[in-house]
Amino acid sequence: MINRPNPNAKLWLFDFDNTLAALEREVDWPGSRRELEAFLRAEGVDEQIFVEIPHGNLPLYAALHGLWLRASNGETRLAIKQTANPSRAGAQALLRRSSQIIERHELIARGAISIIVTSNSSRTVARWLEIHRIAGLIRDIVGRDSLLALKPSPEMIARAIELVAIRPAKEVSATDFSAISAADTVFVGDSEADLGAARAAGLGFYGIAATESARLRLIAGGATSIFSSPAALLIHLNSRPDPHAEAD
Ligand SMILES: [Mg+2]
Repeated sequence: MINRPNPNAKLWLFDFDNTLAALEREVDWPGSRRELEAFLRAEGVDEQIFVEIPHGNLPLYAALHGLWLRASNGETRLAIKQTANPSRAGAQALLRRSSQIIERHELIARGAISIIVTSNSSRTVARWLEIHRIAGLIRDIVGRDSLLALKPSPEMIARAIELVAIRPAKEVSATDFSAISAADTVFVGDSEADLGAARAAGLGFYGIAATESARLRLIAGGATSIFSSPAALLIHLNSRPDPHAEAD
């Protein structure tokens, strides 16, 4: 048996292949775009930006960020002109609320630290994160090029936990990440090697299994919390009370 995963964990370690990479199809949920767009329209953001950027949350967020906060002398990289740009403080408030809407739909942005622990090269994964515009959500990547033993050895997990202790999070200052415990850490992965590494490190484990045979393999290995996709795991987590709700 393996430790029960803590849904409110402060440190989330993700395998990459078939686990985090599956988010590619899921980060931009149409539902979250609808919610974000409705919010921005209600706040008076001009129609044109939704025409120019018809899909995705992060591209829309990035465009508004550029338009409101990065523009110099009224010059922007976009052809979009908003009739009434908010003040800087107003823009920051709108962007903050937009970010919160996006976060509610993203597994890797839950007010916790996320690190990828992968047998891939960290450079390969870093490039993927850049392309998908989510590099900013991942604190670190511990990859094969660390020359540590691959999973199911716990060596790469131990390195990830060390990295958090060495570089405390600025973005989540309410939490002391220098003293993070195994109970505050979960591993999300799809393979028996992932499960074995989590067990060896004494961590809870969330399994991602897209097929019945993959699911059965994880169950045989002792996993108890298995989801068909990262999205299914996110729905499970979001159906619980938000541990950060009172922090605002
Ligand atoms: Mg994998």
